[in-house]
Formats: sequence, structure tokens, C-alpha cells
Amino acid sequence: MATNIQVAVRIRPFLPFETGSKSVIDVLPGEDDPHDEKIVQGRSVRIAGSSRKSHAFTFDRCFSGLADQVELYNSLIVPLLSSCLEGYNATTLAYGQTGAGKTYTTLGPSAATSPDFFLPHNINKRTAEFDAVGILPRTLRDIFIQLERKRLSSSSVIDSENDSDGVEVGLQTVKQPKSNRAENEKKPFEYTVKLQFLELYGEDIRDLLSTGSSQTKKIVIRDSSDDAEAMGATEQVVSTAQEAMVCLTRGMLHRVTGATAMNAESSRSHAIMSVIIEQTSRTYDGDGEAVVNRKSKFNFIDLAGAERQKRTNAKGQRLKEGININKGLLVLGNVISALASGDKKSFVPFRDSKLTRLLRGSLGGNHKTLMIACASPAPKNAEESLNCLRYANRAKQIKNLAVVNVDPHSRLVNQLRGQVTALAGELL
Ligand code: ADP
Ligand code: MG
Repeated sequence: MATNIQVAVRIRPFLPFETGSKSVIDVLPGEDDPHDEKIVQGRSVRIAGSSRKSHAFTFDRCFSGLADQVELYNSLIVPLLSSCLEGYNATTLAYGQTGAGKTYTTLGPSAATSPDFFLPHNINKRTAEFDAVGILPRTLRDIFIQLERKRLSSSSVIDSENDSDGVEVGLQTVKQPKSNRAENEKKPFEYTVKLQFLELYGEDIRDLLSTGSSQTKKIVIRDSSDDAEAMGATEQVVSTAQEAMVCLTRGMLHRVTGATAMNAESSRSHAIMSVIIEQTSRTYDGDGEAVVNRKSKFNFIDLAGAERQKRTNAKGQRLKEGININKGLLVLGNVISALASGDKKSFVPFRDSKLTRLLRGSLGGNHKTLMIACASPAPKNAEESLNCLRYANRAKQIKNLAVVNVDPHSRLVNQLRGQVTALAGELL
């Protein structure tokens, strides 16, 4: 793929209190599943607009309300994580109006994922509770599984070296002088995982992992040419996925209580959760030791609600905050579309908001960015859902495919045709 920006859409299912309404957004059947009535994934969506007008958009991936967290994770996050473990930075951005499923997608319904989820013997276990776990806890679980596997397999190489008197180098075994043995005391593969959790409210940054009074201390961004650093932000070292989750949950608690103290809601701020992965690989050969250090960052952003501010009630400070919040989302949209255009010369307005300044090191270049546009299927949210799809549409570089409008009737016809083909196949 020419670009490293992907845009996916996720339509959440109807919530219990919304039953009875008909979805205004449909995921259209893809080429691979034209006969399937129950569409879980596809590439295009159609949204019924006002006055019987409908709009169709094509994305890298679209998930219907039938898609679960495991499907979304496997399809979108697993490839990002493997790039990240190779040393790329990655960012996922959950975008959409309040109530559209951003937090559900990022973390899951309950901020505190149950500790059982991380137990090794539960890895493939499917229960309603585990199935609802969001992409961030899943990523944390996989990061530790993969890094531990790498560490264990590298140390077993050393163990076998110690058994014999040589080191495997390619196909030959090279004798190692006894004096070099001390070198082997160093671990051939080591890693450190750290977390950072920042909240951006208007243009104020808060450090949600900081303890004590420094939590209210304002964090300043220091820019360099291709990255930016949140000066003084806590980087918490964590040694298991479960420990990481405890740390994030504590941060979330600070977010909620802080929001109340500020007379704000957490849906009005951006949550930036970052996993920093440092890996050191050492290889030994006749000439000595070669060290490779890799450092990568995987950001998970639960963006502020994208709904239009209601001018009527917003005055003074509120209105200013609203403008600032929308500004962050607006600049983010501009940055992503400039990057998605693939035009090296086009100006990327990173500096126009704190959100994009903070993400500078993870947006663009070789870094992988995924936007998950979350939308509600409910008729009362139709206008916001259309706005959301338009925003996501602007952020991507792929052109809208000419989508065939499939109505239920022709879908049934297709389904029957499929059955005929299948039955005819059996007769041969
Ligand atoms: P947001 O963070 O965008 O404001 P939430 O993630 O809190 O929205 O979702 C709103 C409600 O919808 C929550 O009760 C959440 O559990 C539910 N929800 C969202 N997406 C899904 C989904 N894909 N499957 C089941 N429930 C969902
Ligand atoms: Mg939320």
C-alpha cells in the first residue's frame, strides 16, 4: 500500500433503549460476500440522508453492528502491532460523536478489564465478558506474549551455547574463547514497556499517570523537526499486561474525577494512551557483540466527541472550550488528509493544535495511522453519523468506489442465485 493511513468505519449495534428503529447506515456487501444477508465487514457503507437522498462511501474497512471486538482487532490491529514490534510508530484514533462507541472500541465497556482476561490459559477463551474487551487491552496482552516469547527463545539459544562450546552462526558453529563467556551474562534480548496517559482538554494537557500534585501541573510540548515531546510526562514502566491495565485504570479514574472537578465531561477531552516499547537485541559473533536498539510508540487516542457544539447554551468559557476541542479535531482532519494525499510537498499543519503537535512523531512518514470512525445507526443520530462519515472520507486517500446500490429485493435475488449456483455445483 502506498499510504500508511488507513480509515475504517465501525457502526455500533443498537442499544437496548433504541430498539424498534431501523438502521440508517448499512454496510454494503463486498465482492467476496454478495450472497450474505448478515454483513459483518465490507468496504462501503450507505447512509440514508434526509429527503430520501442516500450517500455511499468506501473505506479500507467497514464493520457493521454484527462485528465483534475480536474481528476488529484481528483485522485492523494485529498488522499494526507487528509493524510496531519491528520498530515503527503507530497510532489509532477513535473518532465520532459521543455515544458512538469510541471508548467501547478502545477499551471496552468497562474501563477495568477483568484480570482473568490476561491469564495465559484464557487466551483463546470466549465469554461475553472477554469478547467485549477493547483493542488496547488486547494489544497489551499480545505485546507481552510476543516480547516474552522472543526473550525466551533468545535465552534458550544462549543456554544451548553454554552446553556445547560454540555459538551457532548461520550454519557453522564457531568456537568461542572462554574469556568471552562473560559476555553471555548479558541477556541477548531485553525489553521495556512503558505507559504514558495524557488528557488534552481544550489546549490544556494533564498527566493522568502522575501521582500527587504534579497531576495538575501543566505539561509543555517541546517540538523538534520530526517529533514532539510532552516535557515531564510520566512514563510508567510496567512488566505485565495486567499491571499495565491497572495503571491505565488508575489514569482513567483521575480523568473522571478531574473532569468533575473542572465541571467538564470526559467526552469533551481527548485521551492519549501510549505504549512505549524498547527492545534490545544482542548478537555475538567472532568479532564481538552487535547491539540493535528499537524504540517504538503505539498511541491509542480516544478523541473528544465530534458532535457539533450547540451554540445556544455555550457561552463564555464553555464556548471557548468547544471551539478549542473542535479545533483539535479540525486540525487533525487537515493533517491526516494532507498526509493521505501522499504529496510530499503539501504542507502538513501539525503545529496548529496541541493534539497534532503531540502526535507528530506518530503521524506520517513511515508511521502507521489508523482512524476508526465510530457511528451510531440510530435515525436520531443520522446527521452526526453523516458528518462523521464525511470527516472520515476526507481523511483517506482512496477514492470512493462506485457502489452498486443493493436493495433487499436484489439481495434476495443474489442470494437465490448463489444457492442455485451452489446446488448446480453439487449436481456436477
Ligand atoms: P463514546 O466513547 O463514543 O462516547 P461509548 O463507547 O461509551 O461511546 O459507547 C456508548 C454505549 O454504546 C456504551 O454503553 C457502549 O457499551 C455501547 N457500545 C458502543 N459500541 C458498541 C459495540 N460495538 N457493541 C456493543 N455495545 C457498544
Ligand atoms: Mg467515550
